[in-house]
Amino acid sequence: EHTVNLIAAGEVIERPAAVVKELVENALDAGAGRIEINLDNGGIDHIQVIDNGCGIEAADLPLAVSRHCTSKLFEDDLVNIKTLGFRGEALPSIGAAARLKIISRVKSAESAWQISVEGGKIINPSPAAGQMGTQVVVEDLFYALPARRKFLKTARVEYNRCEMIIQRLAISHPDVSFTLIKDGKTVLNLPIQSQKDRILAVFSDIHDEELIMLNFDRGDLKLSGFISAPSVNRATTNGQIMVVNDRPVADPVMQMAIRVGYRQVLEKGRYPVAVLFLQLPLDQVDVNVHPAKTELRFADEAAVRALIIGSIQKSLAIGAG
Ligand code: ADP
Ligand code: MG
Repeated sequence: EHTVNLIAAGEVIERPAAVVKELVENALDAGAGRIEINLDNGGIDHIQVIDNGCGIEAADLPLAVSRHCTSKLFEDDLVNIKTLGFRGEALPSIGAAARLKIISRVKSAESAWQISVEGGKIINPSPAAGQMGTQVVVEDLFYALPARRKFLKTARVEYNRCEMIIQRLAISHPDVSFTLIKDGKTVLNLPIQSQKDRILAVFSDIHDEELIMLNFDRGDLKLSGFISAPSVNRATTNGQIMVVNDRPVADPVMQMAIRVGYRQVLEKGRYPVAVLFLQLPLDQVDVNVHPAKTELRFADEAAVRALIIGSIQKSLAIGAG
């Protein structure tokens, strides 16, 4: 099983940002209202995610770090996935490739419990000090996979990728407070706020009057969010954040539609801020295409494309007066 986990580790968690994504998504799935993320050396040395969510029962800790043990399928099948995680793959993969420690406390427990995994070996749970919720610590990523470790970029590059993931998750969950601490210094401190205020807090280069609200329906499809006025022309695509049925995605069909929507107003190599929330019936989208769960397959791709392009062009026309 350790070998399987190591292979999965290479696929599921190719870099610190992927670990951050899995851990923060777990915190969100646990119903956390507050999430703190600590990153040292771009996450290569140390990633710590602290949440105030439901916690994990002591007896369930060994299961949480075992392969394909997920508590999240319930009556849902793989087509109708509502929670972010569903494969039960992240923690065992991380445990195979790094030093993993989880400290967790459920409401009814008298103390927190801790479990560690080192190079795939589980160290049995023991009582520990800890608040309600869960704290996950990942140290020395890929120490057990030196070939993988070689593919990591500089701490600066790895940090930037982590930050991008956190920005996406923070923007798609303005009802959760986020703190990001980089090498001991607080770099992001987001209270629970409105969707618009969250976008402005995350992208400090954008001003209030530069964001246009967007809200369109087309049959079963519902698109809402905020896009930037043509005066905003950034050199990065980081401001393009797409959330489909509450799941952050990086879908090429949607990215292309945003580009087409802005084609008349932005030059090549210039990008808008576009935070788009798409809601559609769960059977109209397959989220199971890619292991990282960011690419989608739409039952009616043309309808999605038309809705995004049309909504952007109409909103820009209105926004421009
Ligand atoms: P998945 O999220 O796909 O179920 P993971 O390996 O990410 O798989 O997590 C395994 C299990 O551990 C989850 O199903 C959940 O029960 C538990 N778990 C992980 N992180 C947390 C957390 N922060 N709070 C509460 N439970 C958690
Ligand atoms: Mg998960």
